[in-house]
Amino acid sequence: MLQNSIVIGVDLDGVCADFYGRMRQIAAEWFERPVDELPEAVSWGLSEWGITNQSQYDSLHRFAVTQRELFSSMEVIPGARKYLRLLSDEGFRIRIITHRLFIHYFHAAAVQQTVNWLDSNGIPYWDLCFMKEKSQVGADIYIEDSPPNVEQLRSKGLFTICFGNSTNRHIEAPRASSWPDVYDMVRVFVA
Ligand SMILES: [Mg+2]
Repeated sequence: MLQNSIVIGVDLDGVCADFYGRMRQIAAEWFERPVDELPEAVSWGLSEWGITNQSQYDSLHRFAVTQRELFSSMEVIPGARKYLRLLSDEGFRIRIITHRLFIHYFHAAAVQQTVNWLDSNGIPYWDLCFMKEKSQVGADIYIEDSPPNVEQLRSKGLFTICFGNSTNRHIEAPRASSWPDVYDMVRVFVA
């Protein structure tokens, strides 16, 4: 059965791309610490790695994006390619939604890194939205890992699957712990 009209809004960082895995390597460089000293399980804001305020977070993030090509150097999260392709083949419309244009005058590089990453990792999509306000892109189902985004989308009555990681353990169901989970939950939602 083809699901022609159903749009799945898919976040990139922490959902398709292993943001925290790559950031951990870059943070080890940034702080000049052995990577093994940085815990893999972090909370929102990265306090476990020694980030204590927003401006430190922003500095590390800016360094990662502009000096270490964060957006083109992350590993793909296992299953993202396979299950997005499956959903796409079944007729769902994959709409990538990401808030990556947060550094002024760096937009060309941010977009280039992003589309290169999407193509070279074989992620299928029809629409690519660089948006902070994710609810405004009008998807039917959202897949998102950031606690504030999940809460904001759900507060507007939008069906949002929380893609589980260490930053969002406190977020309520519906939650997916993997891409096979996401696939099953989407199928149940449309049934
Ligand atoms: Mg994210």
